Amino acid sequence: MAHANKCECGSKNNGVCSRCSRLKMVILLLPGWDQYKVDGNNPVWYSFYKDNRKDDLQIIKKMVTRLQKNALRHAVRKVHFYERGQLIADLDFTL
Ligand SMILES: [Zn+2]
Repeated sequence: MAHANKCECGSKNNGVCSRCSRLKMVILLLPGWDQYKVDGNNPVWYSFYKDNRKDDLQIIKKMVTRLQKNALRHAVRKVHFYERGQLIADLDFTL
């Protein structure tokens, strides 16, 4: 049984992990904000794996709150949330 506060794959990531975090948030940018792209792609954030047992809505709210405090917030058109590759939420992002 994996411990909820540790990254299960052992990557020693800082609270988030592309493999162990439950939700993935893809940040769809407004036109003209390509400087925030990462290697030509929309930025991707992962939920904290310590939150893996919280329900989806709680995790989504926390991640949106983090985004609202980030410099990226002015450049965001939409956010898409994925769980194990499945789109689970498609939200318009407005401040
Ligand atoms: Zn991991």
